[in-house]
Amino acid sequence: MKTNRRKFIQGLAGASAGLLVPISCTTKEEDKIVDAPYISKKSKPIKATHDVIVVGAGLSGLHSAMLLEESGYDVQVIEGRQRLGGRVYTLNDVPGKPEAAGEYIGASYARMINTVDKLGLDLYNPDASGGPNRPWLYNIQGNYITADNWEAHKLNPLEGEERSLLPHRFLSTISHKDNPLQDKPLDDWLKPEYHKYDIPHDQYLRSKGVNEETIKLMNVVIHAGGMHKTSAMNELRRYHVNSHANGKLAFGDGKEWKMIKGGNSLLPKAMADSLKNDVHLAKTVVGFKEEDGIVQVSCADGSEYKGKHVICSIPISVLRNVTFEPHITGITKEAIDQMDYGLSVQVHFLIKEPYWEQDGMDANMWTDGPLERFAVRTKRAKGDPYAGLAFINGPESLKFRLMTDDQVFNYVEQKLAEMRPSTKGKLERLMVQSCERDIHGAGDWVYWQPGQVKKFGNEMRRSHGNIHFAGEHTAIMQRGMEGAFESGERAALDIILNA
Ligand SMILES: Cc1cc2nc3c(=O)[nH]c(=O)nc-3n(C[C@H](O)[C@H](O)[C@H](O)COP(=O)(O)OP(=O)(O)OC[C@H]3O[C@@H](n4cnc5c(N)ncnc54)[C@H](O)[C@@H]3O)c2cc1C
Repeated sequence: MKTNRRKFIQGLAGASAGLLVPISCTTKEEDKIVDAPYISKKSKPIKATHDVIVVGAGLSGLHSAMLLEESGYDVQVIEGRQRLGGRVYTLNDVPGKPEAAGEYIGASYARMINTVDKLGLDLYNPDASGGPNRPWLYNIQGNYITADNWEAHKLNPLEGEERSLLPHRFLSTISHKDNPLQDKPLDDWLKPEYHKYDIPHDQYLRSKGVNEETIKLMNVVIHAGGMHKTSAMNELRRYHVNSHANGKLAFGDGKEWKMIKGGNSLLPKAMADSLKNDVHLAKTVVGFKEEDGIVQVSCADGSEYKGKHVICSIPISVLRNVTFEPHITGITKEAIDQMDYGLSVQVHFLIKEPYWEQDGMDANMWTDGPLERFAVRTKRAKGDPYAGLAFINGPESLKFRLMTDDQVFNYVEQKLAEMRPSTKGKLERLMVQSCERDIHGAGDWVYWQPGQVKKFGNEMRRSHGNIHFAGEHTAIMQRGMEGAFESGERAALDIILNA
């Protein structure tokens, strides 16, 4: 193992473009690896097959593998799914090749942008009329309301100048108003002085004078289990990081957003291709056992890997199904058992005929009903067919966990036809996509429930012997894809600086 720490740290400073990551190196003196020869209780010493086994080929795992390799470590990445990328997943079989998950790259995503550049990929500004900036036709309490009519409409619960705020902007704008984190460093959310905001978000908003009808409309786009289930600090941090990421993300026209030409999935592919060892796919990890300073990683197919260290980037709630020997106990165990992910489900259709030409209304609907949003995707090229998707998140998406794909399609088609009869017979089923519809996914993003920032905020990065945890849920400064990069960097540093 050739460790060139100086080269690594220098590279890191360039990659992070001056962003300082607080490092939580929790490896204790007694946890450090014992160099060969290993004295085992068994007659045969256990031998590591690699310096580091990285579990999970999402952005966090792949980034940590690249950094470790640059520092001379022998790394093997293993991944449970049959594909790379985790929550970065371009749907190449759906017209327009939409992103199923990690979509927009913020201007402050220094590590990610540096990696895109280094691997010869290109970024572009997506059409700002797509995504959340598209014009919506609102359907509220069964009433169709256009954006032009909203300000004066009787169902608008806001007052004064705020009445011009469109319903799909309520959550981001009202949550971010008077944000106590505004202009503060990105890791401030963990400081005890902010624990007073680690309360239900609806309670926080009421204390600010926000009325119940407004809170109900904010709940439509909440990613967590509901306005009462998410900590105000989770939401304040979310919009603080977003506004930092793009300056305009929470309020603006989205022009700062970037995506990868050809699809974001090209990035994890290029990252994996850059590694010396091929990523092993379809290796679902079921258990970790550490003995004599070697971590044995057991997979569902009966195969085993042995590493002096492991970086585990499995989403935290998926770890409930994975065994650890010695057991994980205490606060870390509580975090594994209690942390939860926001859910969403996307139901993709081909649009055989433009239903909006039949009824003369706008194509995209934003509703406070069970379907929440139905959007027609911007065509990438002339001649492309129209594709549309229902996007349901937060509490309304829970019921889809209990449905088969056919039942999901039936439900969505029925609700759409009730709300918008012109859609009847004009949709062809393509696919149901959700980041938690298979055993490797927990949901979209981790979210902090009331009280959890205080309880678990500083616990998520604690190593378990030679097992180091990565993944966006362990990030301090950033969220989303850049949070994944940040966490992979911190986990790699845990090994490089302490081994
Ligand atoms: C709908 C949606 C929209 C999003 N939009 C954005 C956006 O616009 N901008 C942004 O920055 N972020 C966005 N995100 C978030 C972003 O995609 C994630 O934060 C990021 O990709 C997470 O990377 P990760 O490496 O931490 O986790 P993952 O990508 O989940 O990687 C974990 C890996 O571990 C694997 N795994 C799980 N269990 C096992 C096991 N037992 N054995 C082996 N392997 C296992 C998984 O298959 C996966 O590949 C979005 C997410 C969703 C769902």
